[in-house]
Amino acid sequence: LSERLGGVFDRLTKAGALSEEDVKTAMREVRTALLEADVSLPVTRDFVKAVTRKATGANVTKSVTPGQQVVKIVHDELIEMLSGDNPNPGELKVDSPPAPILMVGLQGGGKTTTTAKLAKRLKDRNGKRVLMASLDTNRPAAMEQLEILGRQIGVDTLPIIPGQDAVAIAKRAKQQAELGGYDVYMLDTAGRLSIDEELMTQVERVRDVATPRETLLVVDGLTGQDAVTTAENFDSRIGISGVVLTRMDGDGRGGAALSMRAVTGKPIKFVGLGEKMDALDEFHPQRVAGRILGMGDIVALVEKAQETLELEQAERMMKRFQKGQFNMNDLRSQLEQMIKMGGMQGVMGMMPGMGKMAKQAEAAGMDDKLLRRQIALIGSMTKKERANPALLQASRKKRIAAGAGLDVQELNRLLKMHRQMADAMKKLGKMNKSGLMRQMKG
Ligand code: GDP
Ligand code: MG
Repeated sequence: LSERLGGVFDRLTKAGALSEEDVKTAMREVRTALLEADVSLPVTRDFVKAVTRKATGANVTKSVTPGQQVVKIVHDELIEMLSGDNPNPGELKVDSPPAPILMVGLQGGGKTTTTAKLAKRLKDRNGKRVLMASLDTNRPAAMEQLEILGRQIGVDTLPIIPGQDAVAIAKRAKQQAELGGYDVYMLDTAGRLSIDEELMTQVERVRDVATPRETLLVVDGLTGQDAVTTAENFDSRIGISGVVLTRMDGDGRGGAALSMRAVTGKPIKFVGLGEKMDALDEFHPQRVAGRILGMGDIVALVEKAQETLELEQAERMMKRFQKGQFNMNDLRSQLEQMIKMGGMQGVMGMMPGMGKMAKQAEAAGMDDKLLRRQIALIGSMTKKERANPALLQASRKKRIAAGAGLDVQELNRLLKMHRQMADAMKKLGKMNKSGLMRQMKG
């Protein structure tokens, strides 16, 4: 796709805003790519609409080509849709032991395998004591399968008692987990080849007995649209907390992941990448986005565009500093940058002469919370005050501090820091510009 988009846009030589016609042409390619990647039609439509809105009129900066710019917009939107409000996909709620995890899905989707993979992960990474129980009474071999996997990974399984039904086994697992001091117990339910009433009723009863902390749906990522339908069904009947997409080591193109997020709104927590016990990874939106776009080098391409854009912003800022301009808006974008880059050391540490100040600030407890309070203070200033901090006299100070719910002392500290930084910037501005940029690029 990146090549095709590049082709479309390389014909355009003039820089400037992306025209509606350019975007339309590009979106035809995006649409085809998504459908080829097995993303459902309605989701593709919504996606194209969202990207069109963002791309039309977007400024093409001088150093990225329009093609790169569109690819970046498409890529960023994919990531946003894939991640949603799911910042830590690999985390499971396993507090208040013994925490029950219910594994549901159709037969052959990979439930039993994934149960064991997750148990191993919880044991190895989180130091949890895990008990696994097979509730698959339809096939005796399924219970043995879990037992064998358990021995292989060093995780206990609930002893098999023939003749018990799924609900009885779930109760026994709970009891055993409590008595045995386990942190987590996992219930691997039976599946059917398709969704039926009997399966759903059984899973519902098990759910009511166990009141799981996590209910994970395991689906075959190669089944595309069917996986999404399965997820909708299980979610409406049982209520799922997350999804595990298996067989992502196959040659499916990952479109199911996008549809899954868009349609069910449930987070994808893990992906299965093979039959081995450690072939499980937390969900990485970037990888799936790259896969959907069908190109290995997309990430590098996008990073380059990003870097260029950031560099341009830094250059603009430098120009302001050279003129001795450093107002509250500048300070705010510095503070925001600091949060993004993980603290004072990040940004200021890179600027000559600022390293020492950054260290002092850290020693003085300049943590995220403080940075956010300072941003709140700046937010409570008027436009005029931000542009010209010299206006800030006592009565204005009171109003600003009150507006941010903080006291004037804190505002004074912020103003002092602003003065120090403005001075430092002025000195910086006098330095040779190219030398400075070289140092910033590091
Ligand atoms: P269940 O019926 O849902 O319990 O499915 P199983 O766990 O028994 O898995 C069915 C088959 O799929 C087994 O042969 C597994 O080894 C295989 N399998 C499970 N997850 C993956 C995966 O992520 N990648 C690949 N390639 N195979 C998998
Ligand atoms: Mg099974």
